Amino acid sequence: MALDYPVGMHRGPLRQVVNYGRNVVFAPAEIATPGSAAELREVVRRAARVRVMGSRHSWSRAIVTDDTLVSLERMTRVLAVDAATLQVTVQAGVTLRALIAQLDRRGLALANLGSIDRQTVAGAISTGTHGTGLAFQCLAAQVVALRLVDGRGEERALRRGDADFDAVVVGLGCFGVVYEVTLQVVRSFQMHAITERAPFDEVVDRLDEHLRGFDHFKLWWLVPDDHVIVFKNRRTDAPRNDNELVRWFKDELLSVAVYRSLVALQRLDRERLVPLCNRVLGREVGKRYERICKSHVGFLTPDPPVHRETEWAFDLADAPRLLREYRRALLDGGHTYNFIQEVRFSRGDDFWLSPAYGRDSIWLGMYNMDSDERWADQLRAFEAFAVRNGGRPHWGKEAGFDPAYLRGQLPRLEDFRALAARYDPDGKLANDWARRVLGVG
Ligand SMILES: Cc1cc2nc3c(=O)[nH]c(=O)nc-3n(C[C@H](O)[C@H](O)[C@H](O)COP(=O)(O)OP(=O)(O)OC[C@H]3O[C@@H](n4cnc5c(N)ncnc54)[C@H](O)[C@@H]3O)c2cc1C
Repeated sequence: MALDYPVGMHRGPLRQVVNYGRNVVFAPAEIATPGSAAELREVVRRAARVRVMGSRHSWSRAIVTDDTLVSLERMTRVLAVDAATLQVTVQAGVTLRALIAQLDRRGLALANLGSIDRQTVAGAISTGTHGTGLAFQCLAAQVVALRLVDGRGEERALRRGDADFDAVVVGLGCFGVVYEVTLQVVRSFQMHAITERAPFDEVVDRLDEHLRGFDHFKLWWLVPDDHVIVFKNRRTDAPRNDNELVRWFKDELLSVAVYRSLVALQRLDRERLVPLCNRVLGREVGKRYERICKSHVGFLTPDPPVHRETEWAFDLADAPRLLREYRRALLDGGHTYNFIQEVRFSRGDDFWLSPAYGRDSIWLGMYNMDSDERWADQLRAFEAFAVRNGGRPHWGKEAGFDPAYLRGQLPRLEDFRALAARYDPDGKLANDWARRVLGVG
């Protein structure tokens, strides 16, 4: 049953696993691709240690193992759609992209999304993946129930309201392999999406107004521009009016082809060309663009080139001050950034390990494509800024994940650890990363 992983699914030789960001490469002893809960139980029972991966879209080392790696790529079906309750049960290996397409055909949609849809449902919920909007929690908040195989190879079912639920949903693979998820979905809706440019200072001064005025507000900054690109999205039932040609020009030509060519050109003289190109791009991408489109089109952004990311959640109450310091930190850091910097917002939640646990949050991201050496320096500097300001790191992105610091920031970490030991008494599910960072196993 332990199938060899299909050749060509990963870069490099058979069994070498490489993540999206290409910063994590490892060779598990075996990649198991169970096709049912019964097969999954067998995999977990006979393996010495088990780690599970989704679409490998995390930059952190959360999926790394040299033992058995489970992939649910054969468990991707939509199992049930309850038209009355609008609850949809899926096998947990389905990607958001495939799920969105299937929901769309039935007049349904996911209530909220992040910027891409390549992740699996299980992978996205397990790290607290989020979108933007003060009324919206991380994607895990759409989960109503789930089924998993725990560290002893036993099946467990959990529903919202159960005592362990808030720990297990954003569980980073520490409670078991989640193989089935029931999601609360909504009827299809449109997004009234406005993109425009505004001075950085003005956006900070009017932040509250923007956050209350738009369901999904976020901003992109191309360092060192003194303007930012703002996304002002409102949910609507008004009919679509988006023009495929304009969308192609914006999303494919400008955001993908022109941008990638500029990045290639910048290699000639990064120090001078990156700031120059960023100012030009900021003006072009930020040209006012208004449309009413399908909800997922409004949420998602064009496929980015491979890059690196760190992102931290901070207390929203500090947002104006944080934004000013964030700006200064990136302007004064002595580096160039050939990728957008992103600022998003989410409502506080109750998931024990969610970075937005117990507080409405502003998410500050630092993204770049640079040499490993310079990226390490940028990461260190950004982490110092984040730690000074009580930030909590996104589990799927890069960070130092200092266990002592995390203990002070995540009030339920001890409880999480104790509960994980009940689901996985032999520590079979923990990898080196989870042992060091979370203290599980
Ligand atoms: C280009 C890009 C854009 C992104 N945009 C956003 C964004 O807008 N918002 C945001 O918050 N994040 C974003 N991310 C981060 C991404 O959403 C998370 O890292 C997400 O967890 C990746 O999902 P995955 O399916 O690839 O899971 P993986 O990265 O493969 O795994 C992530 C974690 O989930 C666990 N896991 C996976 N499957 C299961 C399972 N079946 N049962 C139990 N545990 C499981 C793994 O063990 C691991 O701990 C982005 C990443 C990329 C590369």
